[in-house]
Amino acid sequence: MSFASLGLIDPLVRTLDALGYATPTPVQAQAIPAVLARRDVMAAAQTGTGKTAGFAVPLLHRLTMEGPQVASNCVRVLVLVPTRELAEQVHDSFKAYGGALPLRTHVAYGGVSINPQMMKLRKGLDVLVATPGRLLDLHRQNAVRFEQLQTLVLDEADRMLDLGFARELDAVFSALPAKRQTLLFSATFSDEIRAMAGRLLTDPLSIEVSPRNSTVQKIRQWVVPVDKKRKAELFMHLLQKKRWGQVLVFVKTRKGVEVLVDALAAHGVAADSIHGDKPQPARLRALERFKAGQCKILVATDVAARGLDIDDLPQVVNFDLPIVAEDYIHRTGRTGRAGNAGEAVSLVCADEVGLLAAIEVLTRQSLERIEEAGFEPEHRVPATNSAGHIVKKPKKPKKPRVKDEVSTIDVRFARR
Ligand code: AMP
Repeated sequence: MSFASLGLIDPLVRTLDALGYATPTPVQAQAIPAVLARRDVMAAAQTGTGKTAGFAVPLLHRLTMEGPQVASNCVRVLVLVPTRELAEQVHDSFKAYGGALPLRTHVAYGGVSINPQMMKLRKGLDVLVATPGRLLDLHRQNAVRFEQLQTLVLDEADRMLDLGFARELDAVFSALPAKRQTLLFSATFSDEIRAMAGRLLTDPLSIEVSPRNSTVQKIRQWVVPVDKKRKAELFMHLLQKKRWGQVLVFVKTRKGVEVLVDALAAHGVAADSIHGDKPQPARLRALERFKAGQCKILVATDVAARGLDIDDLPQVVNFDLPIVAEDYIHRTGRTGRAGNAGEAVSLVCADEVGLLAAIEVLTRQSLERIEEAGFEPEHRVPATNSAGHIVKKPKKPKKPRVKDEVSTIDVRFARR
């Protein structure tokens, strides 16, 4: 299947081609025809599946085909996202895919001046990507109007609810025309998301690209709190103590991969590696050796490890937690395949508590923490609660006399 065979206009097909998108990803192959046909869509798709192009490309196609016709302060397509980072990212995608098209797009989120956003809205926008709070501010100030709104996209709907946007979302929904297309994308489908979908969507096409959560639940997962500088030592200790056979180890950076491989080699432990700096043939060789059991330890970065299909892998070690929580599910999914029991252990230092909290929210579980005797961290990893919040220790009371000391010094200087 090609993008052209989906009936997309030439400028879009050419842009996608220039970006190196040869064939639609599974979510795109299903979503694009449905969005073109103005159907509602409910898609379980995580970051990395190509979901953004799955909605952006057909919407750009439709907006172009209908011609420019947007009135002052009106928007034709509204994309709601949970964070400013995602807002920028999604808007960048619209700009990249629609670069050759005569459409007006903009992005709006809080924490920055509202005026430039209001100025952009004056002439109307074909696409507005926004976070819910700032959108409501703009709406209250009559800077954005919805009578021309055709399509609402909810991207990462689960994260929007996790971040506590339920009330803002309800306020937005009630301001939108009832007759519209709604596209709901979510990595996970909790009861709350399903209830929301039930209220918002009419006869939606359901798309499920990779079944999530289910994979993770079969796998025994736990966290070992440890100081950052002792991770390599702890890894070698666990390797011996637990008599791990084959282990796939995830490290955050390419450099980190090599540092760990060298540290292991210095202790007589052979390990292979795959990361983006290695030529493809070397990566494949490392993978083959690992699959054949000739090398017991494979150290990898996330990018290099995407799509690795290794059967019966009993052990995954997160030497570093992933920056993007979804990658935890990709990583953990390397073990426990086809119903086999698997284990995933994460070596977590205090700096990584935010990443840990994000993973716990995404996978809707609290990961058990098991300290390893002799490796108890000096910098304790703060507790996280079920909402994914980091439980801060009460602050120490301030030293009471600092101010007096400063003024004493001031006085002495003044006397000189
Ligand atoms: P997303 O899941 O939307 O965050 O996209 C993940 C990554 O896949 C982005 O870097 C896109 O540029 C890329 N991508 C999306 N669709 C395709 C495609 N059909 N072919 C190749 N890469 C793609």
